[in-house]
Amino acid sequence: MCRACVTSLITNHLTSGLWRAAPSRRQFLAYAVAAAACAAITSGREAHAADGAEAIFRNGAIYPMTAGGRPVEALAIGGGKVLAAGSASDVSSLARIATQIVDLQGRALFPGFIDPHHHTVLSALFADLLLNVGYPKYPDRADALAALKAAVAKAPPGQWIRAGYYDNLLQGGDLSMEELDAISTQHPIFVFYVNGHVGAANAMAFKLAKIPQDVGELPGGGHFGRAPDGKLNGLIYEEPALLRFLAVAAPAVTPDLLGPALASYTKQAAAAGNTTLHEPGTVKPDWAEPLAKLSNTLAVRMSASLSTDSLEASKAFASLGPGAKARKIPNSRFSLYGMKFWADGSNQAESAAQTKPYLHTPERGKANYSTSQMAELCLAAKQAGWPILIHCQGDAAIDDALDAIEQAYGSNPATGLNRVEHATMARQDQLDRMKRLGAQPSFLPDLLYLYGAAYRDQILGPERTEFMEPMAACVKAGIPFSLHTDSPVSPAGPLRLVQIAVTRRCVIDKSVIGADQAISIDEALKAITIHAARQIGLEDSIGTLEPGKEADLTILESDPYKVSPDAISDIKVSETWVAGERKFG
Ligand SMILES: [Zn+2]
Ligand SMILES: [Zn+2]
Repeated sequence: MCRACVTSLITNHLTSGLWRAAPSRRQFLAYAVAAAACAAITSGREAHAADGAEAIFRNGAIYPMTAGGRPVEALAIGGGKVLAAGSASDVSSLARIATQIVDLQGRALFPGFIDPHHHTVLSALFADLLLNVGYPKYPDRADALAALKAAVAKAPPGQWIRAGYYDNLLQGGDLSMEELDAISTQHPIFVFYVNGHVGAANAMAFKLAKIPQDVGELPGGGHFGRAPDGKLNGLIYEEPALLRFLAVAAPAVTPDLLGPALASYTKQAAAAGNTTLHEPGTVKPDWAEPLAKLSNTLAVRMSASLSTDSLEASKAFASLGPGAKARKIPNSRFSLYGMKFWADGSNQAESAAQTKPYLHTPERGKANYSTSQMAELCLAAKQAGWPILIHCQGDAAIDDALDAIEQAYGSNPATGLNRVEHATMARQDQLDRMKRLGAQPSFLPDLLYLYGAAYRDQILGPERTEFMEPMAACVKAGIPFSLHTDSPVSPAGPLRLVQIAVTRRCVIDKSVIGADQAISIDEALKAITIHAARQIGLEDSIGTLEPGKEADLTILESDPYKVSPDAISDIKVSETWVAGERKFG
């Protein structure tokens, strides 16, 4: 099933539905302002090398990522910015009596890692509201069921047990009402699949959601699974049906819930090594201001792209600057980049649009829009001054998206870099075309890591699968690209992305998927630093350690250039810093 991007269920219904239940925007703003009042707002602090450094880092491998894998001896920061990166003697001239000397003791220091496609708000809500019963936490189905049982044991009768991230492809098939009833008949249980299209529930949950045995198809296409005897089997398909359950199972998202959820979630992202997260298409224009205010209190810098549904409202931000650069909300660590839409579905669900059929079927998937509709969306975004981000999993969707980008933008970079999200099945000729148009892909390596073997054996066949996520071909063609998690689709973890890009190993059967598309550690690290910064319009302020840029740092216990490729994701994150403040470690 689909495990690509967050589906329209979430983008168009779940969050807006939950948000509607929230207190008024004014109340939320008041909350956010109060939260921000507690925060140090760094914009007033100016960095002057002449004043000397607040901190100097030395005695480790310091990679500014300006010249690939070449480290420097020392780094000086002050006023939240990088003052100097270079030889120990040059940097030591910035030392004053008050300067803190940080002895790295052989650790490795990088520009803060950026996840350029990470649904931060949704991830925070999911983490707060849903018990994780997914893969890889529970590779064994029995363990996932045991986790539900343990949650039931701790909850008073009648309390909802809400779980998420269940992966029917990797955890042994669908759940059933019978199985969930065996866990409890006294607690309503709802399990949301990681694919975003399916859920499973027990009989009590069906009762509370008021779904009768003789329910038919719901308006909009929601439907329910049936056992061979014709009775409901517990499976819930598509948004209209899933929403019946979420409406009764999920609490209203109030500021009191979201603020702490984001604080806690961004701490976890920082612990994984991230200093900036970009949320594409699942932030509403109304949220920008409150999120900007909250951003000063969070452990990471926040950035977002709006969805093309919000084009009209997006014009309110036009005054914040030219589209080629991120539009920074003043006095915050929040910025806006582009407009996003979804061209197709996912390869795992065989709903991504391909030019050739999937294996064992004549079906080729289908794009969500015609080429001319896509061109209209691109043109409208361009006219509002935004670059475009288009979710494309299949190669036919990429053809259409590139047609649309070419019609609307040509190779004109005036509104910034146009992005092809996931670009999973991009062909060589499409890479050449991206190069010509100045468009860039952002890849989701966990698709290869989790489903590479399934793509090869069940979904697309070996030949097409070898070239999935063709990173080496991009390097060869001179096309910069970024790597992302698409969280909550896969968890925060920049080093895991790097490891997958370098090894192309599928975790399910340990096979290597298209060895010749593996890239160097250096290219992989650029994809989570400078290339990612450029793809969110922030290359002038983050992504490398150069004088005047933000002092956003990720410090690792070991040097990823020096460990075995299969051990990169095991490296411990030691510290993260945002704008010269330590956020983790
Ligand atoms: Zn997507
Ligand atoms: Zn996404």
